[in-house]
Amino acid sequence: MAGLAAAVRARELGAKPVVLEKGDRPGGSMLLSSGVVWRHRTFDGFRAECPGGDPALQQAIVERLDEAIGWLESLGAPVLEHETGNPRTIGKRFDTRGLTETLVSRAGDVQVGQVLVPGTGPWPEGPMILATGGFHVRLASDLGLPIRGNPWSVGDGLDLALERGGETTRGLEEFYGRAMPAGIPIDEAEFVPLSQLYGRFAEVVSEDGMQRFEGEVSWSETNLVQAIARWPGGRAWYRVHESRLGQRVRERTVADMIEHARAAGAVVREEPPFTSVLVQASVTQTLGGVRIDERARVVGAENLFAAGADAGGIATGGYSSGLAAGLVFGRIAAEEALS
Ligand SMILES: Cc1cc2nc3c(=O)[nH]c(=O)nc-3n(C[C@H](O)[C@H](O)[C@H](O)COP(=O)(O)OP(=O)(O)OC[C@H]3O[C@@H](n4cnc5c(N)ncnc54)[C@H](O)[C@@H]3O)c2cc1C
Repeated sequence: MAGLAAAVRARELGAKPVVLEKGDRPGGSMLLSSGVVWRHRTFDGFRAECPGGDPALQQAIVERLDEAIGWLESLGAPVLEHETGNPRTIGKRFDTRGLTETLVSRAGDVQVGQVLVPGTGPWPEGPMILATGGFHVRLASDLGLPIRGNPWSVGDGLDLALERGGETTRGLEEFYGRAMPAGIPIDEAEFVPLSQLYGRFAEVVSEDGMQRFEGEVSWSETNLVQAIARWPGGRAWYRVHESRLGQRVRERTVADMIEHARAAGAVVREEPPFTSVLVQASVTQTLGGVRIDERARVVGAENLFAAGADAGGIATGGYSSGLAAGLVFGRIAAEEALS
């Protein structure tokens, strides 16, 4: 998201940016996502939800997201829903394929298969915007967990920023992820439909039965997933009483989610009146990363900008929209790089 948004904005401003894309297709995790670009309704709500995040960055998202969403629509990006369906948040859901195609068609020179490799400078003259999607691949490997995002974001942006004198934020170990059925291969097309988003309706115990989640599960369930990630194997049983199977999480019921997992080969135990599903934490996106200021400048480095998941410290301690951060700071980075 961030790199393409920055490139489109830079072209609008008369520049001729080059986008290096390491993957075999543009769009990164954005293409795999649910496409909901959203923000907390108020700045205070954002602060309460993500207390460890940088207030100036959060403020920028609250102030600039609505206009940025309008900008995407004006470019022709297809909107599927004009509401998020969550009373805490405001935003729109885009068709991610159409969104990616719209941005790519206006970004100019998008070079697929070209990698920004830290340690191989000197770099071309002029400003550079880091937008490599954070380091969820590296963090997942460190934690022994599967990824639930694009397979290319290993932390190249972070390493390059550090090489150029950049600083990092707190919370480098924090991530946004989902509980997914454990022990089965999951194709990227199933990242959204196979997510098991009903920990709030379940008893959650570690696979060996030794640990139990006692806290309050946040609405995004990010705190639960991060807790499970530290249990043996990053695994847990979600044990659901039959009276909760009809509960809804957005458009799906708990029963829908369990049945989809069962059909995919998940480990499901029936012990009436309980149904239990074995899940594993998976890592979608890192929340810590390169420290930027509200103008997307990498703190400590010259002529270097970062946006999207490369820029940490926005959702620290909670969860906020990664697409929104990429969109807002991608645009800001382009504007600042050219100012
Ligand atoms: C299944 C799923 C559902 C999601 N649902 C939502 C949602 O509904 N709402 C929401 O806000 N967020 C959602 N997200 C998260 C969202 O997709 C990310 O927050 C967002 O894509 C981050 O934008 P980005 O530009 O930082 O990274 P990306 O979109 O991943 O783009 C980074 C790009 O950098 C490339 N790259 C990596 N390293 C290099 C390198 N060295 N050189 C060149 N290129 C490189 C990658 O290949 C990738 O294309 C979801 C994610 C997933 C996987």
